Amino acid sequence: MHDVLTTSIEFLKGVGPQRAELLRTELGISTFGELVQHFPFRYVDRSRFHHVSDLHEEMPQAQLRGVLGPLRMVGEKQGRRLVSSFTDKTGAVDLVWFKGARWLQSSLKPGHEYVLFGKPNMFKGRFNFPHPELELAATWEQGLEAALQPVYSTTEKLNAKGLGSRTIWKLQKALIAQLSGQLPETLSHELVEWLNGVGREQALRQVHAPQDQPRLDAAVKRLKFEELFFIQLQLLKQKLQLQQSLRGNVFTSVGDHFNRFYSEHLPFALTGAQKRVVKEIRKDMGSGHQMNRLVQGDVGSGKTLVGLLSMLIALDNGFQSALMAPTEILAQQHHATITRFLEGLPIEVRLLTGNTRTAERKSILTALKMGEVHIVVGTHALLEDRVQFNRLGLVVIDEQHRFGVAQRARLWAKSEVPPHVLVMTATPIPRTLAMTLYGDLDTSVIDELPPGRKPIRTVHRFDSSRNAVFGFLEEELAKGRQVYVVYPLIEEGDPEKMMGKELKDLTDGFESISRRFPLPKFAVSMVHGRMDQVTKDYEMARFKKGETNILVATTVIEVGVDVPNASVMVIENAERFGLSQLHQLRGRVGRGAEQSFCILMTDEKLGNDARARIETMVRTNDGFEIAETDLRLRGPGDLMGTQQSGLPELHIADLIADSALLQQARQVAMRLLDKDPELQAPENAIIGRSLAERVKGKPVWGRIS
Ligand code: ADP
Ligand code: MG
Repeated sequence: MHDVLTTSIEFLKGVGPQRAELLRTELGISTFGELVQHFPFRYVDRSRFHHVSDLHEEMPQAQLRGVLGPLRMVGEKQGRRLVSSFTDKTGAVDLVWFKGARWLQSSLKPGHEYVLFGKPNMFKGRFNFPHPELELAATWEQGLEAALQPVYSTTEKLNAKGLGSRTIWKLQKALIAQLSGQLPETLSHELVEWLNGVGREQALRQVHAPQDQPRLDAAVKRLKFEELFFIQLQLLKQKLQLQQSLRGNVFTSVGDHFNRFYSEHLPFALTGAQKRVVKEIRKDMGSGHQMNRLVQGDVGSGKTLVGLLSMLIALDNGFQSALMAPTEILAQQHHATITRFLEGLPIEVRLLTGNTRTAERKSILTALKMGEVHIVVGTHALLEDRVQFNRLGLVVIDEQHRFGVAQRARLWAKSEVPPHVLVMTATPIPRTLAMTLYGDLDTSVIDELPPGRKPIRTVHRFDSSRNAVFGFLEEELAKGRQVYVVYPLIEEGDPEKMMGKELKDLTDGFESISRRFPLPKFAVSMVHGRMDQVTKDYEMARFKKGETNILVATTVIEVGVDVPNASVMVIENAERFGLSQLHQLRGRVGRGAEQSFCILMTDEKLGNDARARIETMVRTNDGFEIAETDLRLRGPGDLMGTQQSGLPELHIADLIADSALLQQARQVAMRLLDKDPELQAPENAIIGRSLAERVKGKPVWGRIS
């Protein structure tokens, strides 16, 4: 039924093998279905004309009607270009082309009336249109089938090969005509009615060739809703299936380990939020269904402890647990923290990472298999096939956004009955995004920090006031505090790609700080991703023990490092960091009882986005507010890290702009599944079929979260 949509684009009139290849490589379009989903990113109203006299520089584009002047070649070599002028009754503008002169000279007709479309620029007091679109007024009038003209994204290469936005538009119209009567409806009659009666085919036709604004708006809404609705439906249906079909290990009791730890070893009282979340987790793990829960909690909110308590419940029920961290440093730290917390209790905790020595690894693997290890802490190394458990009951994943979906799938395979999964993240995820990314997970929020923490004071300083900043550091150091100084290093993970200049900035910084804070009074250490593990660990350990006062570092310390005595975070070139990264880094201080500070150093010159990021950091400590701003500034793909995000591909909807529609779509999907979980009712058959089509061949996210 959908077959026609899988037809190769090559067979569309006006395409052919060469253009098909270009469309595939440049835009990833190889089929009819993919082309029809290549939606315009905006529309221009071509029925409205401007006059030369009312042009201004800020106009993104303007449309004029007038007479084309003579064509001339001017300039030498690189600067050689074709120029002309264009005159209407209010004045004249210049036209310029840097490419395609020969073709233009043979096809344009000076002295004729044209319609011109393009971006006006001001150059030496006159308006100038580079590479304008020109069409003879006579043919323009004939060809004006639509006042509202779609604009499609294209690439320079496509443009050069004659596949600009206008050509793509022509192809779209040809395609819609060819597909007429073959674009099946995907929504139920009731939903189509609710969407102002706009059927799928009608919507696609309007989007690519709108008749007027109201009909275009209705069409866009229908397509956006459809896109968001099916994503939600798929997520919710998987969640339902999981709950129904997958047994979970039932953790009925809370026993000795948990109770002894809680009453004898826990050095402080849990916060209200921690208690609530632990309760939610207990309930999940006792329900008989597999738990898939996401715990969001700002930096320093005490997630580790929540993870640990959950693992103790698993142990009380005779199960092993795994705690997985995204980096070596973080895994080591978790291991150390947990070992310290559990001191004196008969609980076997081991650390397994890529750097674990062979003999040690062998002993851990055997012990895991025998069930002698109760809690294993590690990195990706835990995912390897040779890591076998005796009875894996719970997997806790820290800072989940760094783990790909496929990696989680491998953990899933490690036991017959799926282990409960607890995902912890300190990168608060804006609600709309969470709904889409984790629509199949239950979520808990730790929205309270342990008592006694003073909010971190954040300030912005220009590089020019470095002396004053150093003076301030000296005062804090004199009080016995410790200081982080962080430099940006973009390609941290891959030493080969690490940028030379950034490494130099870091080492220069280290040297100048060492000079300013010299031995024997002060000690400065440095860590970065290019160091070998042993050195890195050694330096980190020295700082943690207070043997060094200042740690000059890159973002290797971003996640999770915990040194309560460190109270100042200086971030160099703060304009180069993303918001969530800045927030994570800031979270490294403010972990003790002292007043902590975060100093964002930047150049005087700041771009708008960078300024907005810095201002947000100075204004608020609230991770959720920061996440929302980040989402607005960067868009969802970037925010979550494109490849691993698991974000569905969106063709027309936008998670930020369309968040209200997203919520509606989710509610509609929920109500539908409430009434008809299998989508078996005759009126819903069409939705069921469309969903099955969409799911076909795609990984089933729900099973592997
Ligand atoms: P995060 O949520 O960022 O992972 P951690 O689990 O690292 O936070 O906890 C931050 C610090 O707060 C740790 O030193 C931890 O021991 C401490 N902590 C956790 N819970 C509490 C609590 N209820 N009261 C006091 N301190 C706590
Ligand atoms: Mg943590």
